[in-house]
Amino acid sequence: MKYNKIMKKRISILGSTGSIGTQALEVIERLSDKFEIISLTAGRNIDLLNEQIAKFHPKSVCVSADADKVIGCNKVLTGTEGLDEICSNKENDIILVAVSGRIGLEPTITAIKNGINIALANKETLVMAGDIVMPLAKENGVSIVPVDSEHCAIHQCIKDISQVDKLIITASGGPFLNKTVEDMKNATVEQALAHPRWHMGKKITIDSATLMNKGLEVIEAHHLFNMPYDKIEVVVHPQSVVHSAIEYVDGSVIAQLGLPSMHIPIQYAICYPERYEGIKSKSFSFSQIARLDFQEPDFEKFPFLNLAYNAGRTGGTATVALNGADEEAVFAFLKGKIKLYDIYEITEKMYSSHKPILNPTLEEIFAVDKEIREKTKELIYGRVECLSI
Ligand code: MG
Repeated sequence: MKYNKIMKKRISILGSTGSIGTQALEVIERLSDKFEIISLTAGRNIDLLNEQIAKFHPKSVCVSADADKVIGCNKVLTGTEGLDEICSNKENDIILVAVSGRIGLEPTITAIKNGINIALANKETLVMAGDIVMPLAKENGVSIVPVDSEHCAIHQCIKDISQVDKLIITASGGPFLNKTVEDMKNATVEQALAHPRWHMGKKITIDSATLMNKGLEVIEAHHLFNMPYDKIEVVVHPQSVVHSAIEYVDGSVIAQLGLPSMHIPIQYAICYPERYEGIKSKSFSFSQIARLDFQEPDFEKFPFLNLAYNAGRTGGTATVALNGADEEAVFAFLKGKIKLYDIYEITEKMYSSHKPILNPTLEEIFAVDKEIREKTKELIYGRVECLSI
């Protein structure tokens, strides 16, 4: 490993102005003697990026547009070519992939091919191409440390994967846990965005309300830990204190606990294998939490869970179709075009009309993703809208 304790760890963040990216920079600011920022990338929030440049002095940045508005950085790159250049830069010890959506996949692959370790906060990378990404990481001796709190928890619990019998992924249940199906059907965008425990981006918050997010996490866990689907269990745990657990073959269950703050898993993933005092250190108290509840998920109220298990077991491009259709439907819901339950109905319809390609190439994955999104938009809008994000 290039990194040692005296040298600063050199890091780039893809998606530095998003929810995970900004929290990662809060962690890095606190650990400024441990990290050096090589590059930051952002979408359209140039004002925030400019603030980040002034504070963290990256050597280069990449934006999707408005490069002329970037101030204070000598090297301003744009688009997918810019992302590719940043992810090919072997100066990086680690890259935090914190962009959301399919845009995270190619840069992650580029970084892996260049032997750069990954802190992964982008679900789509594994949901769409886990069968390509994980073997590639192994081949290149690259570690992929998950930022997603559940997978980060499992990563912390596992010593020897061959001794693990079951993964237990916790789900907060989202804002509709104790509401009726009728309530969900009439939910406004605001209600669906009001997640009781976690502050996250909009797309993932809606996916949390429908439990699609948990479905995607089951697929993510399957790839990360090479665990068959019938050995991955979801349990609802409203307090979000137990972030996930594993059961060993001998019946011992190891769980990881902590306050529901993304700072903890972000810090774990970017510092791994080291641990340092963090933003939430010394604030956990069992007596203040008082109780921890667990219950089985309601598969009827949250049908996405079964659909995700089904897609995962089918494999190939089935998960690509599921993910693409859901993402477009979520965007339509956020724009007020459809109702919350329509997200499921539309996704299910698109998913079941798709004939999966088994062992797809990356090109086939992207082609299926594009096709399913176009079909989904056609179904929702009656035509293909160009501006989906
Ligand atoms: Mg999660």
